[in-house]
Amino acid sequence: MGTMIPLIARFEPTEEKVWKHIPFTVPEGVKQFHISVTYNDRIDSSPTLTGGNTLDIGLFDAQGIESGSPGLRGWSGSNKTEITIGEAWSTPPYRAGALQPGEWHLLLGAYKTSVNGLTAEVTIELDSTREAWETPPTPEIGSLTKGQLPAPVEPNWVRGDLHMHTIYSDGDSYPHELTVRAYELGLDFYGITDHNRAQSPVPLVPHGHGWPVLVPGVEVTSYAGHFNVWGGPDTWYDFRDYSAAGQQAAVNAARADGALVSMNHPKPYGPMWDHPDITGFECTEPWNGWWAGLNSLATEFWVNQLNSDTTGSWHIGICGSDTHYLKRSGDPRIPLSPARMGTPTLWLHIEDELTPATIIAAIRAGTGFMSESPEGPQLIVSANDDVVRVHVAGAVGDALIGLGNNGAVLAEPITADDEIFQWHIGTAIPAGNSYIRFEIHKPGGNVRALSNPVWR
Ligand SMILES: [Zn+2]
Repeated sequence: MGTMIPLIARFEPTEEKVWKHIPFTVPEGVKQFHISVTYNDRIDSSPTLTGGNTLDIGLFDAQGIESGSPGLRGWSGSNKTEITIGEAWSTPPYRAGALQPGEWHLLLGAYKTSVNGLTAEVTIELDSTREAWETPPTPEIGSLTKGQLPAPVEPNWVRGDLHMHTIYSDGDSYPHELTVRAYELGLDFYGITDHNRAQSPVPLVPHGHGWPVLVPGVEVTSYAGHFNVWGGPDTWYDFRDYSAAGQQAAVNAARADGALVSMNHPKPYGPMWDHPDITGFECTEPWNGWWAGLNSLATEFWVNQLNSDTTGSWHIGICGSDTHYLKRSGDPRIPLSPARMGTPTLWLHIEDELTPATIIAAIRAGTGFMSESPEGPQLIVSANDDVVRVHVAGAVGDALIGLGNNGAVLAEPITADDEIFQWHIGTAIPAGNSYIRFEIHKPGGNVRALSNPVWR
């Protein structure tokens, strides 16, 4: 057994949502070390649970703890308490590689504190000799069948799901397993947005030849809420300072890198976004997971943003399943989020070759729509100076509702499986409104599809 370094970190009951950097020294020549963490009154991280302690864990190596530093070796939230760090391999999501001698920092955050406070007892075993985790094999590509989905009713429309997690944060599957699932579902693209990840996911299956395109991202996960970043460089954005100024700086840094920045799940238990005054989000997520998971409230949040928007180029609506688990369902610990890939599905219009860059450009165009599943209704909305046109498919028997700033302005029954509706723009966007957007409703039930607004 190697040298043991014991560490204690104490959080008083009032120190909820406080980060501490706990220094320790890695001597020359260490090839692997192991971190074990225990703490009192432990409860799950679900925002629906309170009364106990939840501890978030991350790690910085000797390259430093500054924002964006290459020193971030990984952040596993409250998901893991046994972590191996090594030259040859590390426990996901931690990065393997050289173990620089010098001062490292364990990052500990008390997400929840009980009335007793939180005492974390940490043991770091230097020169440990643990065996690597087994990676599930990539299946024979030829043995897989691509999912068959209803064809797009207009050319150049593609569908996918950009908000998902892997074992590189708190999911249960490897990136290549998400690739396989996306392929078997028939999606055209998929995104991986692991929480505060220290390395971009690398697709094990190449793009092209019918394989879905991976859009790498990161979910910046702070105690003030979460936002997704896609299309930036392989870096991370600071989640530790969750004051309005701190998170504004993180959004600004991502925008300065040219990345697409989206406010996630602004609804109760999302968790909600705590800083309404932060600017710079290009997108909002009015639909996260299955519709009944309080997404009417997320949509209401988005509509309030639209109603305070004078430019029409901001607050583009996008959706994501927030899938964490491919290998379990119906987990009672996550009653509001039994997420499934493609529930909901984001549709985009892309004429060029499908790449992460063209996917991000299509989101920015603001013409995409959201649908309940990969097989769900299609809701293609377009407009010119005279006419607003809505092409609906796969929703016979449902209702098409047009909504302006103050609520419904149009309502039509959908009587054919493939149907086109058109209105003069003055009818669709009556005086006093700056836009119209559309929803497809099941009779007496859920929203099945949601469009972006057409602006006057
Ligand atoms: Zn999130």
